[in-house]
Amino acid sequence: MIHRLILRYRVRRPPKTLRYEAQANTQGRPPRAASPVSSRRSGLRMPLRCPSLLEPPMTKTYMNVSEIPVLKPYFGRKTCLATKHGKEKVVARPFRHALGVEIMVPADLDTDSLGTFSNEIPRLGKPLDVCFQKARMGMAAAGLPFGIANEGSFGPHPSMPFIASDYEIIAFVDDERGFSIHETLFSLKTNYAHREVCGPVELDEWLQAVKFPSHGLIVQPKSDNPQITAEKGIVSLAHLRAAIARATARSERATALVATDMRAHFNPTRMALIRRLAFRMARRLATPCPSCQAPGWGMTGQSKGLPCKECGMPTEMILSEIFTCTACTHREERPRLDGLREAPIDRCPCCNP
Ligand SMILES: [Zn+2]
Ligand SMILES: [Zn+2]
Repeated sequence: MIHRLILRYRVRRPPKTLRYEAQANTQGRPPRAASPVSSRRSGLRMPLRCPSLLEPPMTKTYMNVSEIPVLKPYFGRKTCLATKHGKEKVVARPFRHALGVEIMVPADLDTDSLGTFSNEIPRLGKPLDVCFQKARMGMAAAGLPFGIANEGSFGPHPSMPFIASDYEIIAFVDDERGFSIHETLFSLKTNYAHREVCGPVELDEWLQAVKFPSHGLIVQPKSDNPQITAEKGIVSLAHLRAAIARATARSERATALVATDMRAHFNPTRMALIRRLAFRMARRLATPCPSCQAPGWGMTGQSKGLPCKECGMPTEMILSEIFTCTACTHREERPRLDGLREAPIDRCPCCNP
């Protein structure tokens, strides 16, 4: 006797041509040939919109329900992106392509209340906490169970202080399934810089280095007064000169502070990094747990201890990557992706103390 399983998926518009067919066959019979159209009772069908996510192959026989992959768990669902800086331009596409998700941006959401780059409102707490707070703020405003937010931090590279770096976080909250995950990206691709200016000096070389005017600038008086206001989003030379003159006049030290505007809509370099991160998050949400099929399977940690190639002692270098599920306790420890299996001698505390 053949036991068949029927799963119904919440799909708004089933495509006409593409069908995914699978059946549970408890007697281990060979799978039937794929049939693009069959009656509703004849097996399990999972209509898909995006063939690039078809995994495993088009027709497969599953021995039990838990093996059946959950494809596109957020298909057709609205997800809130908490931004007032136009990040939907780079976030909407990855989420639509990989997951069939529709991105919503709540109007009049004041994400600046969680902190600004120009320090008028200091950011309280760690960037990751602020990022989740921002996602939840958007979800509350939009009344949606899914939320996305991004948070960037800029500063000198931890080990090379003369090089600027950008650390970006993207957070995703799913209140229906009860999990929240994040992905990060550390990059040296940033124009982050600032400069003090006393009077009308030529900034030509510096302006070129910070990609002005395709990237915006901020000007504020150098002052100990915490209430100082900055002129932001400066993208023309005339505006820049006038802003420097105003800031110098208002500063007790007759000095203006010119800095790069790191808000995404005035910083195409940062916007490109947010796009990369959005693709990473969308791919992760489209990856099911190998054990329970819950969405969001991905790397959540690393373990150190790569052995020294001379003496074999564990070093501070990453040995393996830890993958975990958002729903069950399934966990996998995988060797590092770059294939490195031994640490160089200069990283060994014994050979190079
Ligand atoms: Zn799982
Ligand atoms: Zn060693």
